[in-house]
Amino acid sequence: MTATPTVETLVVKVGTSTLTAGTSHLNRRRMLEIAQQIVCAREQGVRVVLVSSGAMAAGRERLGMTDRNPASQSKTLPEKQMLAAVGQTHLMALWEQVFGMFDVRVAQVLLTRADLSDRRRYLNARDTLLTILDHNILPIVNENDAVTTEEIRVGDNDNLSALVTNVLDADLLLILSDIDGLFTADPRKDKNAKLIGEVREIDDRIRALAGGSKTGLGVGGMSTKIQAAELVTRAGASMVVAHGARPNVILDAVRGQPVGTRFLPVVTQIESRKRWILSERTSGAFVADDGAVRALRSGKSLLPVGVKEVVGEFERGEFVAVRDAQGREVARGITRYSARDASRIAGKRSDQIEKILGYNYAPMLIHADDLVTL
Ligand code: GLU
Repeated sequence: MTATPTVETLVVKVGTSTLTAGTSHLNRRRMLEIAQQIVCAREQGVRVVLVSSGAMAAGRERLGMTDRNPASQSKTLPEKQMLAAVGQTHLMALWEQVFGMFDVRVAQVLLTRADLSDRRRYLNARDTLLTILDHNILPIVNENDAVTTEEIRVGDNDNLSALVTNVLDADLLLILSDIDGLFTADPRKDKNAKLIGEVREIDDRIRALAGGSKTGLGVGGMSTKIQAAELVTRAGASMVVAHGARPNVILDAVRGQPVGTRFLPVVTQIESRKRWILSERTSGAFVADDGAVRALRSGKSLLPVGVKEVVGEFERGEFVAVRDAQGREVARGITRYSARDASRIAGKRSDQIEKILGYNYAPMLIHADDLVTL
């Protein structure tokens, strides 16, 4: 067995089929089992984010539009969105109740694709999620189904959970489903189908194995799970797909036990981040003093107090170069403040930011995590 690095941040995605245990109702017992394991993982020091599907299923349950009454099955997008809007509060109320038994507080975070791709909103989403985690609260994420249209929808929670994993630099994404993992053939049709324990590289053969599988109430099949795996493994994280009913599935996945199918990262997280930051064009520069340059080289963030000049036009979330007094580029990173704001706080202490701007995104211009020194 390969050594698995300890998991610091875990994203658990629970699919509709897992939450309903294959029925048309949310299964309270299943939710309790999942909550119990998440609480245990948290007690072991793992930061956990839960991505929960099931809003539409919960809406159907709430409005009595279950399978037994097929005439009332909704079809149009606004009807589905209505179901999600009704169901989301029901779903959260149940999660709150279940986690409440363990004195764990929860926070609802509803996202759209735009929140995770637009740079400014990406920072906002990330900062909010990190702040929730810092307060030891469990974020429960779903797509903001009620307001998303085709263009801004992620569309399925497998991909959504992968984007959340990457936004947070989480180490592991665990997708709980109603299948044991990826098989060499469709296990429902082929008796000789074997579970693939580990995937080191997602190639055409793997993609072909994933084709077509789909379950009743949820959105994703194996193919969206492979898409998710491509996203997270390329960003340096691992992903496990496993059966949600398997006892201790969450805890075993965290410990690196062989559960389901594990997709291994193809690069390290640092490499991936570095490549990403270096591959983007910069829109401007901060000219830093010698003290600030030394601080950056020792892994610190870029504070406004160490910046002498702001060059160019850029918005919060864009890529900005850091130059030394001689004009050499010494680092590159994602700025927390626009050029306009940055030039007003340059040279000032961080505790003055709020007074000068009237708001305060963060005490630094570029966070150490968003910075690559050259
Ligand atoms: N956001 C959808 C829901 O909560 C689920 C999407 C999915 O299952 O992938 O109903």
